[in-house]
Amino acid sequence: MKSWSVGVIGATGMVGQRFVQLLSRHPWFRLRVLAASSRSAGKPYGQVMEGRWLLPEPLPEEAASLPLYDAVKEAHAIARMVDFVFCAVDLPRGQCIALEERYARMDCPVISNNSACRLLPDVPMILPECNPQHAAIIEAQRRRLGCRRGFIAVKPNCSLQSFVPAVQALWELQPQEVQVVSCQALSGAGKTPECWPEMADNVLPYIPGEEEKTTVEPLKIWGKVENGRILPAQSPSIRAQCLRVPVSDGHMAAVFLKLGRDSSREEILQKWRDFPALSLPSAPKQPIHVLEEPDRPQTRLDRMREGGMALSVGRLRQDSPRDFRFVCLSHNTLRGAAGGAVLLAELLAQEGYL
Ligand code: NAP
Repeated sequence: MKSWSVGVIGATGMVGQRFVQLLSRHPWFRLRVLAASSRSAGKPYGQVMEGRWLLPEPLPEEAASLPLYDAVKEAHAIARMVDFVFCAVDLPRGQCIALEERYARMDCPVISNNSACRLLPDVPMILPECNPQHAAIIEAQRRRLGCRRGFIAVKPNCSLQSFVPAVQALWELQPQEVQVVSCQALSGAGKTPECWPEMADNVLPYIPGEEEKTTVEPLKIWGKVENGRILPAQSPSIRAQCLRVPVSDGHMAAVFLKLGRDSSREEILQKWRDFPALSLPSAPKQPIHVLEEPDRPQTRLDRMREGGMALSVGRLRQDSPRDFRFVCLSHNTLRGAAGGAVLLAELLAQEGYL
């Protein structure tokens, strides 16, 4: 397999640090450039990150000596040094789109964690096990941006990761209605328990923008490519309530599902177990792990399943021939953010887009 030189834009942030950690030992991707805002640029990454590194794993040695670039002012130089960039920046929507399109137009593909471009009809939003076929839209996007090699591809919001594959695995049973209550970790807001003491012994009933993303984005994932656009699916209907809970990592989702066909617990458990895996370095060998113990999945015990890349599902209960309830869990900064973006890049590399 070929190897690719990569950059991380937003390398000092919560998601950016995960990228640095995951890419330091990646079999295909070589970490060459780290960038952030002008506030951090100009010094070696290790020096800038003193007192800011939040992960339990140590800062990788090979990253510590890399200089930190200014992602905006030095964009041209960065685009020439790498084959593509990962992007996770805290910027207003318009500025974020401008930054990502600027790199794409310089023929530097952008694999993004940011929400800014997710709903643009020619930007593929991909969960690699669910809608890899949406990569075909990249050609239409390249025509719009006027570039040959560049493009933007995004991963969906971290709250989706816990339940969308579990619903998609049941597609033949015609999901009609999905009601989901998500219990989302502090790291989803770029925070740790230490730096957010107000969250101890507390639950927040509101995460700005999260319920909209949780109801709209799955329909794009289940949509189809037509005339240079991704047309969102019309069903199932989705209703969501998103809560912030005092756990460090791991988003849990309690799901109520109505099917269009009669089914059984056994059939659903089998479909989850049979959900196909991808053959890529970061892909879990078993994408959906079915846990039969009545008190699983649990955030602390199950979030790191298969390196934090697999989904855990449990507590499947049947209320009628077509009504079911279950609980899902995924790691929000691994599968739901940096790990999901690395897996997306692997898919696009394998398919020849990078
Ligand atoms: P964060 O910890 O606040 O980090 C933000 C990063 O953006 C920092 O590296 C910061 O650099 C950089 N930045 C800010 N302004 C910039 C500018 N003008 N030019 C270049 N870089 C700039 O945020 P985060 O939690 O990592 O989230 C980053 C993105 O990922 C957001 O869009 C978020 O919605 C998304 N996301 C997060 C999660 C999660 O679980 N945390 C999950 C999915 C998606 P400085 O240090 O120099 O300021």
